[in-house]
Amino acid sequence: MKIICIGRNYVAHARELNNPLPESPVFFMKPDTSLVIRNRPFFYPEFSKDIHYETELVVKIKKNGKHIAEKFAHTYYDEIGLGIDFTARDVQANCKAKGLPWEIAKAFDHSAPISKFIPLESLNDKNDIRFHLELNGEKVQDGSSTLMIFSIDHIISYLSKFITLKMGDLIFTGTPAGVGPVKINDHLVGYIEDKKMLDFRVK
Ligand code: MG
Repeated sequence: MKIICIGRNYVAHARELNNPLPESPVFFMKPDTSLVIRNRPFFYPEFSKDIHYETELVVKIKKNGKHIAEKFAHTYYDEIGLGIDFTARDVQANCKAKGLPWEIAKAFDHSAPISKFIPLESLNDKNDIRFHLELNGEKVQDGSSTLMIFSIDHIISYLSKFITLKMGDLIFTGTPAGVGPVKINDHLVGYIEDKKMLDFRVK
């Protein structure tokens, strides 16, 4: 399986990092070794002094597809989860300044905690999927799928022009505004609607 992540998919987040708004989805990948499951702790890596959380809706692909038309994209997923796209912002800034790829800042071990996946049908409104993150009890990010620049269906269609999507692949769909640093002992709790999806600590 592979993990494809979309960057700059929310206007307010692109602006908070002084990035231009994309004309088509920006994507990068994380390896399967980035995953953290079952609310295990996130261990702060030694190579960065500025690890940021980015809370994102994560789509699980349920069948293989290539060149998927946007109008059929909805048939390729029926479950959603919540994930954190941990980013070494200091290392990423260095990469951006040099025009280098971001993988070193995004794809490191344990950079992608994910929740369990729940059926879209279990949501109050699958066209307005609301989610938020609490850091040490304070709400720091609040998003909705309606605020995405590129919809989930558009992302699936676009990605599948370049990369065959396979059953079990995960797509991180981008983060809303409010990203910020974590430190050791922080407690992160993430929700989709009123369902607690993530609950773990930084160690
Ligand atoms: Mg992200």
